[in-house]
Amino acid sequence: MGDLTDRLAQGLSAGAVVVDPDVTAAYSRDMAGFCAAGVPAVVVFPETVEQVQHVMRVATELRVPVVPQGARTGLSGAANAVDGCVVLSLVKLNRILEIDPVNRIAVVEPGVVNAELSRTVEQLGLSYPPDPSSWESCTIGGNIGTGAGGLCCVKYGVTSEYVLGLDVVLADGRLLSTGRRTAKGVAGYDLTRLFVGSEGTLGVVVRAVLALRPAPAPQLALAAEFPSADAAGAAVCEVMARGLTPSLMELMDAVSVRAVNELGQMGLPESTQALLLVAFDGPDRVGELARVAELCRAAGATEVVPAEDQAESDLLLAARRLALPALDRLGTTMIDDVAVPRSRLAEMLNGVAAIAERHGLTIGVVSHAGDGNTHPIVIFDAEDEDQAVRAQRSFDDIMALGLELGGTITGEHGVGLLKRDWLARELGPVALELQRQLKGVFDPLGILNPGKMV
Ligand SMILES: Cc1cc2nc3c(=O)[nH]c(=O)nc-3n(C[C@H](O)[C@H](O)[C@H](O)COP(=O)(O)OP(=O)(O)OC[C@H]3O[C@@H](n4cnc5c(N)ncnc54)[C@H](O)[C@@H]3O)c2cc1C
Repeated sequence: MGDLTDRLAQGLSAGAVVVDPDVTAAYSRDMAGFCAAGVPAVVVFPETVEQVQHVMRVATELRVPVVPQGARTGLSGAANAVDGCVVLSLVKLNRILEIDPVNRIAVVEPGVVNAELSRTVEQLGLSYPPDPSSWESCTIGGNIGTGAGGLCCVKYGVTSEYVLGLDVVLADGRLLSTGRRTAKGVAGYDLTRLFVGSEGTLGVVVRAVLALRPAPAPQLALAAEFPSADAAGAAVCEVMARGLTPSLMELMDAVSVRAVNELGQMGLPESTQALLLVAFDGPDRVGELARVAELCRAAGATEVVPAEDQAESDLLLAARRLALPALDRLGTTMIDDVAVPRSRLAEMLNGVAAIAERHGLTIGVVSHAGDGNTHPIVIFDAEDEDQAVRAQRSFDDIMALGLELGGTITGEHGVGLLKRDWLARELGPVALELQRQLKGVFDPLGILNPGKMV
């Protein structure tokens, strides 16, 4: 241990090597409950690419595991420490290095917070679309590590679509550059995409070239109340089948609506079974909202309320962003993240309701409905052993249901520790073996975030 910290300190700034157990304990886990977290030997805060290379060289030489971390808002245990590891926090590599409006790219370090990048490029009439609900705190490095999604993906897609190139420090300290700064480029295997969603198991991202888009007009939203998941699911399908392209299409069930009202006094309608929020940000957003309102009524909406102005729209979207923290206050939570083809959204929601009933637990559901990406949140009392068992069974049943409906066990939160056993079920033996071989190519000693994902 002394050797490890001494060696690390030789290449890092004063104060960048932390061994105080009270401090290191705070860096031992992300925001996923129920995932094992080890005790780190040390937490380091490099400020330059060279310092990250130094950390990886020392770790390779001493065969010590390294767990890269962003803001630790992850929901799969992917950033959790393993015993005796170096926690490699990237939060101090936090500079926006370049914004190039002509080529529509930004070059950033991994510790830049998502919302900070969004606000900075907005001032230049540009946007960086990926917008996880945690955008005020999560980092670009973490977003790349998890392949994060968000609320706008139904129109703009997920993080992988915006990562053009990366600088990555490999396990042995070498610096790899992948991808491009150009609008197009197909030279060689697409290693950039391989790193997106690799959960810190293949290398440490130290710089990213990100695609930007012209800033859209502010979103205008409506809220539609439905008496059932079937009716809400039908409305979602109609909107998409008619060729409309909302910039957001989110669904909250009765449990999450009540929870948000309790936390934020939002005044959302509590008599509804399913509250659909739809927004547009194009030049004809008023007309498009009117068409959606009609489709919602035809699908059985009991009430459709378009926002009167920008402030009201913003409030609706803010209410949606509150859903996870609001549900989190109702008890201990297990947050799932199952995506199904959007045509099967209603089946998924009805199936989750049946699972809740079967196990006698409350499960609140918020969904990125336009993407078929549901977040069923199992709420229970962790002190009650029987409830904890039923919660785990519900969580597993939800993933099994997602696979049965042609979906995936994780739409955006990642595998981490939480879903490692389920990955094998989704991938099958051939794909799993190839993924493990790929891991071996990049990290032959197995020191990078061991025990996560594959
Ligand atoms: C309230 C709330 C709302 C959320 N909403 C969403 C949402 O809408 N959509 C969504 O997708 N997620 C959401 N999340 C989950 C989480 O915010 C995302 O997974 C986010 O991308 C994690 O970023 P982070 O900086 O916190 O990374 P961390 O949690 O610290 O790390 C995540 C993973 O990335 C790896 N990693 C971090 N930095 C690097 C790096 N520089 N190089 C290599 N690997 C790295 C870590 O090892 C880990 O595997 C939400 C979380 C909360 C708490």
